[in-house]
Amino acid sequence: MKVGEPEKFIIDGKRLDGRKPDELRKIKMEVGVLDRADGSAYVEWGENKAIATCLGPREVHPRHLERSDRAILRCTYNMAPFSVSDRKRPGPDRRSVEISKVTRWALEPAVLLHLYPRTSIDVFIEVLQAQAGTRCVGITAASLALADAGIPMRDIVPACAAGKIGGEIVVDLSEMEDNYGDADLPIATMPTKGKITLMQMDGNLTQKEFEKAFDLAKKGCETVHQMQIDALKSKYER
Ligand code: ADP
Repeated sequence: MKVGEPEKFIIDGKRLDGRKPDELRKIKMEVGVLDRADGSAYVEWGENKAIATCLGPREVHPRHLERSDRAILRCTYNMAPFSVSDRKRPGPDRRSVEISKVTRWALEPAVLLHLYPRTSIDVFIEVLQAQAGTRCVGITAASLALADAGIPMRDIVPACAAGKIGGEIVVDLSEMEDNYGDADLPIATMPTKGKITLMQMDGNLTQKEFEKAFDLAKKGCETVHQMQIDALKSKYER
């Protein structure tokens, strides 16, 4: 057992934060929160807080990156120095480079890039407060920012993780569960197309456990997808 690891992760069917195994943390989303970006979205997911902005389609700089047949999608994930308990050194690091890349992988299949040749569509994700699962929060916010910027997409992309803690499969790991759990399986999907656009896995799962975790994460994505649609609609009702 590691230092700080709880003896049990589930007591009387409830997790340490009171959630059931298949219950997501509380999620709030708002679209169009910034005036000067082409698209923007703010997402609160448990204690996570992130803002995503979209700029484009616009001229590509540096020019040699432009593609004659489609737009390029560039994603930048950044964690604010004050977003975690120990101050994070500002600027990119290995982790943010990885998450920026997987965010692009998760979103690229959804965006109709061929409609905007020789341009770039840039997405910036700023994590203001982090408490496990920020890549899912970032992808969820980023696809809302793209939609808010009016970029045509095959589907809005939600993301959600499931994992294994104390031998049980649960959805949407909290920070304690993420730190001391056995496995984490974040996925991003295009629910109306029945497609998975990203899947990562940290830790070990048996095939049965994997199937259960995958199923829970997929259901989580469906719930988040509905919230994304509601958030987009409510912008136009405002
Ligand atoms: P994700 O945020 O997608 O779960 P990780 O598994 O890499 O990605 O990170 C898990 C959590 O660890 C983050 O959400 C954050 O709460 C915490 N964390 C990440 N980087 C740092 C850091 N540099 N300092 C302190 N905590 C961090």
